[in-house]
Amino acid sequence: MEEGLKDRLFNKKENGWKNIDTREKEAIFSFCNRYINFLNHAKTEREAIATAKKIAESNGFKDLSNFTQIAPGDKVYFINREKSMYLAVIGTEKMENGIHIIGSHVDSPRLDLKPNPLYEDGGFAYFKTHYYGGIKKYQWTTIPISIHGVMVKANGEKVYLNIGEDENDPIFTITDLLPHLAQDQMEKKLKNGIDGEDLNLLIGSIPLEGAKDADSVKLNIMNILNQKYGVTEKDFLSSEIELVPSFKARSLGFDSSMVASYGQDDRVCAYTSLMAMMELSNIKNTAVCILSDKEEIGSMGNTGMESHMFDYFISELLNKTGENRPNLLDKVFCFSKMLSSDVDAGFDPIYASVSDKNNAGFLGKGISLNKYTGARGKSGASDANAEYVAWIRNLLEENEIKYQVCELGKVDVGGGGTIAYILANKGVDVIDCGVPVLSMHAPYEVTSKYDIYSAFKTYKAFWER
Ligand code: MN
Ligand code: MN
Repeated sequence: MEEGLKDRLFNKKENGWKNIDTREKEAIFSFCNRYINFLNHAKTEREAIATAKKIAESNGFKDLSNFTQIAPGDKVYFINREKSMYLAVIGTEKMENGIHIIGSHVDSPRLDLKPNPLYEDGGFAYFKTHYYGGIKKYQWTTIPISIHGVMVKANGEKVYLNIGEDENDPIFTITDLLPHLAQDQMEKKLKNGIDGEDLNLLIGSIPLEGAKDADSVKLNIMNILNQKYGVTEKDFLSSEIELVPSFKARSLGFDSSMVASYGQDDRVCAYTSLMAMMELSNIKNTAVCILSDKEEIGSMGNTGMESHMFDYFISELLNKTGENRPNLLDKVFCFSKMLSSDVDAGFDPIYASVSDKNNAGFLGKGISLNKYTGARGKSGASDANAEYVAWIRNLLEENEIKYQVCELGKVDVGGGGTIAYILANKGVDVIDCGVPVLSMHAPYEVTSKYDIYSAFKTYKAFWER
């Protein structure tokens, strides 16, 4: 047998930490320290966009509305209603010959307040919630929770809330039944263990001094909010208040090889693509970075990827480069390439039975590509063309970036979707390409620092192609 035949013929997926050099390891750890800092300042889509704007502006990006004309080398951004953002670095090639898009999302599963959230019961004040995205409800009880969001008064004045992140802030929590009295609850199916209508946030217990009638605890809370923020109960009607875990993002493990944090789906891809874009200069194809909203609930609405806002942005780039003509937008999309940068299900040895080991994404083995997603016979999937997968492989192999091509779980076990199909429908060549995660959609998600840095390198290489 030929020496090294196996190495030559087999696709072996290696642990990226093996034989890593010191400089690379240092680069990974210092990049991830900045990522952890980003996560702690970007716990909602609005906070993520505000933070991304600061990062972009400090790197020379300017609001597209400031330009009447743009030219190769210009760096621009567009923010849609504080909740989604598009950035671009203009390339030397005409946009009609294709642009290179990387698209992630900055919304994450959470609990939203209902429009009429505040009530009192049994001497406690509570906020009623409606969960957002695919959560396992039991995971959201008995953890420290912080309150983030915006209340908009009828006169348009905005009040921003961020309570529970500072060490000196109070936190909030959702209670659960003590085991001693949980016999009936424990017999229920896990998905019914906690009712959606029981995800009520405990927010106070002191009655307002001198108040006699019912609702004096509620009145005390409303009085505190009025004194602090100048709001009344009606202002909740026009608010977007999100409850998120107040845990800080931290390094995980004795070796600090992983990151534990809320909201890594999909801020891990948002951050890595944003940072890759910050390092671009003199590129050929115009580079576009999407930080979208509403992915977790189907990408609908005018801040979601299904909206025409993105088409408007690309049309504006065509207008301002002076390149536009009737129907050119369609051509741009048909000649463009995209990485749909969203997280992948990481292989979890404790729950190995849901994965096909040959086709699972492993933490620490580099960026994970999903040729297709979908569920039950690839239904609903955007299946990347083999030619495009080959193009991506070539890019990764030439840049010596470790990668794995995976499926999300065993056949018929489950499935998922991203924004990939939306751009594919416009004619763009798209593949899902992101970071494998453990405990996806949980209040505390786990990623590997090796993969985070691989994502950054992949996105940079893609735009620099
Ligand atoms: Mn996602
Ligand atoms: Mn998700």
